[in-house]
Amino acid sequence: MHESEKRCLESCSNNDPEEEPPSKRSISDDLEEEPPSKIATTRYRFFGDIPDGVWNDWKWQFRNKITRVEQLTQFIPLSTEEQAQLRLVTMRYPMSVTPYYLSLINPDDPDDPIRKQAIPSIMEMTMGSMGVEDPLGEREDTVVPGLVHRYPDRVLLVLTDICAMLCRHCTRKREWRNGGWVRSPAEVAAMLDYISQHKAVRDVIISGGDPLTLSTHHLEDLISRIREIKHVEIIRIGTRFPVVLPQRIDNELCSMLAKYGPIWLNTHFNHVREITPEAAEACDRLLRSGVPVNNQSVLLRGINDSVEAQTKLCHGLLKIKVRPYYLFQCDEVQGTEHLRTPVEVGIKIIEGMRGHTSGLAVPTFVIDLPHGGGKVPLQPNYILAQTEGELVLRNYEERVFHYRNPTPLARPESPAEVLCPAGSATASLPREPAANLG
Ligand code: SF4
Repeated sequence: MHESEKRCLESCSNNDPEEEPPSKRSISDDLEEEPPSKIATTRYRFFGDIPDGVWNDWKWQFRNKITRVEQLTQFIPLSTEEQAQLRLVTMRYPMSVTPYYLSLINPDDPDDPIRKQAIPSIMEMTMGSMGVEDPLGEREDTVVPGLVHRYPDRVLLVLTDICAMLCRHCTRKREWRNGGWVRSPAEVAAMLDYISQHKAVRDVIISGGDPLTLSTHHLEDLISRIREIKHVEIIRIGTRFPVVLPQRIDNELCSMLAKYGPIWLNTHFNHVREITPEAAEACDRLLRSGVPVNNQSVLLRGINDSVEAQTKLCHGLLKIKVRPYYLFQCDEVQGTEHLRTPVEVGIKIIEGMRGHTSGLAVPTFVIDLPHGGGKVPLQPNYILAQTEGELVLRNYEERVFHYRNPTPLARPESPAEVLCPAGSATASLPREPAANLG
């Protein structure tokens, strides 16, 4: 474990989580088994000697992340050649998987969608010449170290490069080689100073790495100082902890967040099998603390690139009251090309969902443009033809409809004319289109 990670855990050890009160009603009662008992099977097969109390201690999970190929071979069958390949990949792109997330993998399935997100692939190297290190141009928009200011009313704080898990499709994969850092007090002070001086900033996004790797005490220090800045209206936290280590979302964290609302949390479920009872309970704790939870998934080849996979994921999210917010086209990051899909795949998925299920379950499919161009939503084209007064539209069943497009009302030249001061009740009312005035 790197020194920064140790510091992070040491600072947490003075703030041991309160004991979890017995749940009044288990969320797991509401979840379908998906797939049947695989999760429990894998956990007890490999971690059966770990008592529940230890297993559910997020600091134990964090300390016992699987980072070496030798460890991995104890859980997942790997040929000598595969082991050699993984050693090569991890020299450039390290591996880090929590025991909890590892327990979601079916070790006997090389194409398991959970495995593909966590376990390196040789294609990270063989296709490594494609893509770029910083596809979103975050370096160009960094105005003080750790603070990205791209849009007028919001800023992004990159607090650390440490994560509970290293996701193979990560946009900030370039940071993995920097060995684990946390912003210093002086850097944090400079970031807060910048926000104080920029009155247009009403939305602050706390991100990383994963900011929940920091202790609750450390986070509270930052969040309380952001809250002192009067023009900041909302705080958003970007974290994958509800997915990869949901035990981190404990009562101590939730009570702290409840004090500084409105705080929104964006997380990152990519597959329905990640929606475990533990993940559902973590999201429920956040919601009960007044923290709305949105999901930003990434479209990934062989993981969730079908209508069926996305529909199951989004239905599962709605059942735990998490809003499917964005579906991202996988960024053009070096070392992720094997997981990227053609843009048409995403559009087809949205087309296969829209109308076939509730609009609440349909995320917005977006491309985050290179060089800081921002997010562009992509939709199937439902307009078949358009004239001045009419649109020809198709619906989700491919039925064609004609829709009369209202002509814009002519604007009155001045408010005084509408008030008719000259004694005529109607003289100055807009005259076009006459039909609309009855
Ligand atoms: S948790 Fe987020 S920042 Fe960390 S590796 Fe995964 S995708 Fe990247």
